[in-house]
Amino acid sequence: MTGCIVCIGECMVELSPQGAAGQYGLGFAGDTMNTAWYLRQMLPAGWQVDYLTAVGTDALSDQMLAHLDAGGIGTDHVLRRADRTVGLYMIQLTDGERSFAYWRGQSAARTLAQDPDVLDAALAGADLAYVSGITLAILPPDDSARLIDRLSVWRKAGGKVVLDSNLRPRLWEDTDQMTKAVMAAAAVSDIVLPSFDDEATWFGDATPAATAQRYTAAGASQVIVKNGSGPLLALADGQTHTLPPDPVPSVIDTTAAGDSFNAGYLAVRLTGGTVVQGLTTAAALAAHVIQIRGALTTLDAATRASLIG
Ligand code: ADP
Repeated sequence: MTGCIVCIGECMVELSPQGAAGQYGLGFAGDTMNTAWYLRQMLPAGWQVDYLTAVGTDALSDQMLAHLDAGGIGTDHVLRRADRTVGLYMIQLTDGERSFAYWRGQSAARTLAQDPDVLDAALAGADLAYVSGITLAILPPDDSARLIDRLSVWRKAGGKVVLDSNLRPRLWEDTDQMTKAVMAAAAVSDIVLPSFDDEATWFGDATPAATAQRYTAAGASQVIVKNGSGPLLALADGQTHTLPPDPVPSVIDTTAAGDSFNAGYLAVRLTGGTVVQGLTTAAALAAHVIQIRGALTTLDAATRASLIG
């Protein structure tokens, strides 16, 4: 069993503090790219994982593509823009607390959905498309609507759409625009992977079950509600499953917890595993990722085998 997944969104340059004060290391990360990274590692070799984004034509953009390449992620659908470059964020540590500063307002990725033919071409070869609320947030409203429209057409022809709602109000003009766009994307999605605390804040859901029901009512056949260290809730094909994630003794850095969780869940489901097997592997992968610093890690064969179970 093999197939092709296309993840759509923004990868950014990451500057993170290293050792001595004032020294920073350069990396690459971004929610949909993090998921592509872990999907590539969790799926058997025959699967193709592609990334659709836009970058510049400068050296830093080349470096980002080399990074995707090294991670085994296909870059054939990456657009190059001579007048823009990639976005950047910087992690600052103040008394052990992390804060983030972003420079992404003019990033090339904001232009990824300008051309419906480009979107159609990327989707044509794929079985599953993965987008997030951040993907929608960075696009001008017309382009976001275009992406949802092309996903909808492709889905009617048999494609499967996965959405992580990833609610980030600071990226939107107002929260009304955010919630409307996310529900419009949910209406063309088969699998929705929200995180309960954000959904409770911005949609007013009283419980994870309310979140699952809202996305099911929008049309998703599988909704997995993540909940930090709290119990996971899945509503899949009318059946409810809950699973408490194993406690993690020392959480080092929760960056990419949800992104890696999504990859673990999808990898299991795409290769024939059950919902509960998907939740178990997803929680184990996220637990592994939050015990290392940074978003991305390379899994060795033994770790991968133990996560797949
Ligand atoms: P997001 O990163 O999208 O906000 P969550 O914080 O809900 O998502 O985390 C995603 C998943 O990562 C959780 O469902 C859980 O499996 C795992 N996880 C996150 N934080 C913890 C924790 N403190 N202990 C155990 N598992 C955790």
